[in-house]
Amino acid sequence: MSAASSNSWKTPHEEVVHLRDLLERANTAYYCDAEPFMADSEYDRLLQRLADLEAAHPELADATSPTRRVGGAAIDGFTSVRHARPMQSIDNTYDLDGLRAWAARCEKSLGRSSSLVADPKVDGVAISLRYEKGVLVQAATRGDGAVGDDVTSNIRAVRAVPLRLRSAARGSAALPDVLEVRGEIYMPLAEFQRINAERSARNEPELANARNAAAGTLKSLDPAVTAARRLSFVAHGRGEQRGGEAFTSFSAFIAALRAWGIPTNRESRACAGVTDAEEAIASFERRRETLPYAVDGMVVRVDSFADQDALGSTERSPRWIIAFKYQAERATTRLVRVDWQVGKGGTITPRAAMEPVWIAGSTVRHATLHNIEEIMRKDIRIGDLVEVEKAGEVIPQVIAPVVSARTGSEQPIEAPMHCPSCGSVLEREGPKVFCVNPACPAQFRERVKWFVGRDQMAIDGLGERLIDQLIDAGIVRGFADLFRLDASAVAALTSEAQLASGKTSQRKVGDRTAQSIVAMAEEAKGRGLARLLGSMGIRLLGVTAAKTLARAYPDLAALQAASAAELEALPDIGERTAEIFVQNLNSPLLRGMFADLAAVGVDLTSRDFSASTAGNDRGGNASSLRGKTIVLTGTLVGHDRRALTEMLEARGAKVTGSVSRKTDVVIAGSEAGSKLDKARELGVEVWDEARLDQELAE
Ligand SMILES: [Zn+2]
Repeated sequence: MSAASSNSWKTPHEEVVHLRDLLERANTAYYCDAEPFMADSEYDRLLQRLADLEAAHPELADATSPTRRVGGAAIDGFTSVRHARPMQSIDNTYDLDGLRAWAARCEKSLGRSSSLVADPKVDGVAISLRYEKGVLVQAATRGDGAVGDDVTSNIRAVRAVPLRLRSAARGSAALPDVLEVRGEIYMPLAEFQRINAERSARNEPELANARNAAAGTLKSLDPAVTAARRLSFVAHGRGEQRGGEAFTSFSAFIAALRAWGIPTNRESRACAGVTDAEEAIASFERRRETLPYAVDGMVVRVDSFADQDALGSTERSPRWIIAFKYQAERATTRLVRVDWQVGKGGTITPRAAMEPVWIAGSTVRHATLHNIEEIMRKDIRIGDLVEVEKAGEVIPQVIAPVVSARTGSEQPIEAPMHCPSCGSVLEREGPKVFCVNPACPAQFRERVKWFVGRDQMAIDGLGERLIDQLIDAGIVRGFADLFRLDASAVAALTSEAQLASGKTSQRKVGDRTAQSIVAMAEEAKGRGLARLLGSMGIRLLGVTAAKTLARAYPDLAALQAASAAELEALPDIGERTAEIFVQNLNSPLLRGMFADLAAVGVDLTSRDFSASTAGNDRGGNASSLRGKTIVLTGTLVGHDRRALTEMLEARGAKVTGSVSRKTDVVIAGSEAGSKLDKARELGVEVWDEARLDQELAE
């Protein structure tokens, strides 16, 4: 595929320029224009092609290339940045009287009414982006308003933030020499749910809400963490501006940002006065539950920049802007039953089944009860009247029982002793209850749903309900069966949309959709070991660990042959985790699954992955280590093995665990054993520590 596309380009330079432009246009189309035209898998493939070209032609390097979004190295800490214009906070009001009083104050002060703009208040982390001559040079958090943290390397990894502004677009204003854009970094709700599902599978505590998750991600010292979490950005203000068009209003400024490729809120509404703003608030409140991001209110501001300047600001906040905050909505209903649901990692979580109740624009029948300890702490009983809350960012939750309404017939809730799916005796770890049976059918069902997801094997078109049908019909009994799907069998299933709508007429999936699912499965066979391992829902083996393992071993067989001690030497893998990996990867159940996957032609090598990590290197040092596959062995006196591995990887090398013909260099410390012998046998270059230091000093 990539070979074919390269033929149509006269020079690598032309293709590189084309790919950079195409990939950034794909980002803008997705994040700024909400008109995506490229599938994620295609984006990844083209990004890889670009990385390969840049690696082969270092002279074509460019700091604003999409491949440079993630630098190789983590940092030690954040440096401080003083904001050119302070980042002030916004006054809040919780009722319309407060909003009207604010508008009246503005009108009195200006001597007339003025046009307003109402924007949804996306619940995220305030950030300031500094562009110089259209290139992103710095990103900083609000901090105390005067001084924030420099989070440039993390922000570069956020694809919604353009590294270079689109200046030649039709109708776009001339780019200022300096432009500071203020806005919100936020985590889309789907991403929040995806990350929590992954954390729950690894038995890690779930993130409390999308806002904290976004903030925590930006505080990460490793940009790769930010890149793995798909944060988004929306602009909502301006800081310093030097040169370029002198904008007279916020709406004109925002329109220019959009033309330059910076995402702005599409729900933004121009209001003639405060009555319009009230209407915008009311109409938005009805719709906000349906949006893909958390919104906790509406921001209303005076549109004209001259009027804003005339109104000025107090110590704390500008006088020309106010935030109307929505109340989290609550309702009372009866708790009928508690369903214990089995997650893909075996966690059994309680879900409240309730009498249907209307909250914030939809009928709610189920709510989370978190875990058995929460149930005990709140003393929630079956038959209780319960208060249920639906906040914008989370699934409905049971807040508390209405104790005064009790009749005495309410029944206490007990944690189950046996798995509701397979009947195994459950294990308890703190507040969590687990089914540890690896062959549990409910866990398998959840794992298959996870397996086909966008960030796992990406078999598009296979939704949850189709998977339920395939499993119920006995067509899918293992992961490998997903790759054996027969288009005519899939076409005969009832379509996802039909089931979701609850209509009775049995519309089928149809031939075209079925063929596309089969084609996606075929494509998914080649995603490589890292994606596969991270998709299978193996205990403790999430995306990060899967990458670590695939980076260290060329294929599954080599990984299965590794000892716990070898795995423990890898970054972020502890003793206990290493033991569990060795045990699980060699368990008869997983061995059977892997053999089955190999039989249908699924790629069990790490080829793809190792290339992409080298491609994402920040570059700058034309190191002799770039692209080399290196194995460490023996005791190194002057280096911590983990730090050394990171250092080598930062210079574009790939560090693996076993010596093969693909190994370029073996670095041998004292008491090096079988790996050194193997290297000599294969004629692989061997460096001692002195030679290593010499190479690193270059
Ligand atoms: Zn079970």
